[in-house]
Amino acid sequence: MSKVPAYAAPSANAPLAPFTVARRDPGPHDVAIDIEFCGICHSDVHQARDEWGGSIFPMVPGHEILGRVRQVGAKVTKFKAGDRVGVGCLVDSCQDCDPCRRHKEQFCQKGGAFTYNGTEMDRKTPTYGGYSTSVVVSEAFVLKVPEGLDPAAAAPLLCAGITTYSPLKQWHCKPGDKVGVVGLGGLGHMAVKLAAAMGAEVTMLSTSRAKEADARRLGAHGFALTSDDAVFKKLAGHFDLMIDTVSAPHDLNREVGLLRPEGALVLVGAPPEPMPFSSFALIMGNKRMAGSLIGGLAETQEMLDFCAAKKVVSDVEVIPAQKVNEAYERMLKGDVRYRFVIDTASLKSA
Ligand code: NAP
Ligand code: ZN
Repeated sequence: MSKVPAYAAPSANAPLAPFTVARRDPGPHDVAIDIEFCGICHSDVHQARDEWGGSIFPMVPGHEILGRVRQVGAKVTKFKAGDRVGVGCLVDSCQDCDPCRRHKEQFCQKGGAFTYNGTEMDRKTPTYGGYSTSVVVSEAFVLKVPEGLDPAAAAPLLCAGITTYSPLKQWHCKPGDKVGVVGLGGLGHMAVKLAAAMGAEVTMLSTSRAKEADARRLGAHGFALTSDDAVFKKLAGHFDLMIDTVSAPHDLNREVGLLRPEGALVLVGAPPEPMPFSSFALIMGNKRMAGSLIGGLAETQEMLDFCAAKKVVSDVEVIPAQKVNEAYERMLKGDVRYRFVIDTASLKSA
């Protein structure tokens, strides 16, 4: 057992503060990782503030973990000390149920083990996330991060990357497809980059006029301001696929109107409150609405390899852990270009 520095939310309405977590000694199948960078996802804010309900405190958030292997257990075959690795939203699962056998560990019927705000599979030991200097994770839940990727900019691929890559793959995104991305934040900017890298014709739908130039730089071919009613007439029936990354309630009926017949709107944004929805919005045109949760381990590795081949990483603002509360406030104001990433060196020197 080793004790390592971290940043934790002590309760739902208190700011994050320095904390110490105990990490287990690596077992035969475990990989001990020195964390270099950890991205800040809006899900961290939802959970640290208990917006989804059921949060466990104290909570060390962070599921965009990037680092180097320090030590491996005797039976580990995939990794050795010094390898650059990542850990996303999962640190374990039963590996035996139907979804686990189909490499969809995120749907483990035994509930899986989320990287934080959960427990290990013993259902007793709390899990603590990546706002910390090290973590010990079962080999099967560690990803190989290609050396060519900048480590700080690659960290957000572990959640924002896979969460947007997976629906693009599920809905067979191909060159020429018209893809709309709703919300230009951490997930949204990855969705633009990935859809563009797959050859799609991408339109950014945003509430922020000031983000238009960025959207185009990130790879969007078009930009539409969702506060402008004319947009919903002009782009009616336009998209094959839309990926909605918005973190707060908004009008889904209008969004579905932008799909072509049989087109699909995939929700990845997870607002805490329900949103009203009219069946007619889908019925008129056999439209589809779906959700998508991160991705399995094999698909996450595929995404990392795709990003290395296409030279896709996140646009990041690297911050010390001491600025995490400020980063949460800025994220809530839409003031992030486009992912905050904690440099864990700030925890070692604190
Ligand atoms: P983020 O960086 O804060 O981006 C969210 C974006 O949504 C904002 O930049 C803003 O874009 C837009 N937005 C915010 N409030 C809005 C409102 N009231 N109306 C319309 N648009 C609004 O957050 P993120 O880290 O990308 O996460 C986005 C959501 O995805 C969160 O709810 C998070 O929990 C969820 N998530 C889901 C999964 C999954 O597996 N499904 C994984 C990770 C995260 P514009 O300024 O461009 O309008
Ligand atoms: Zn996330």
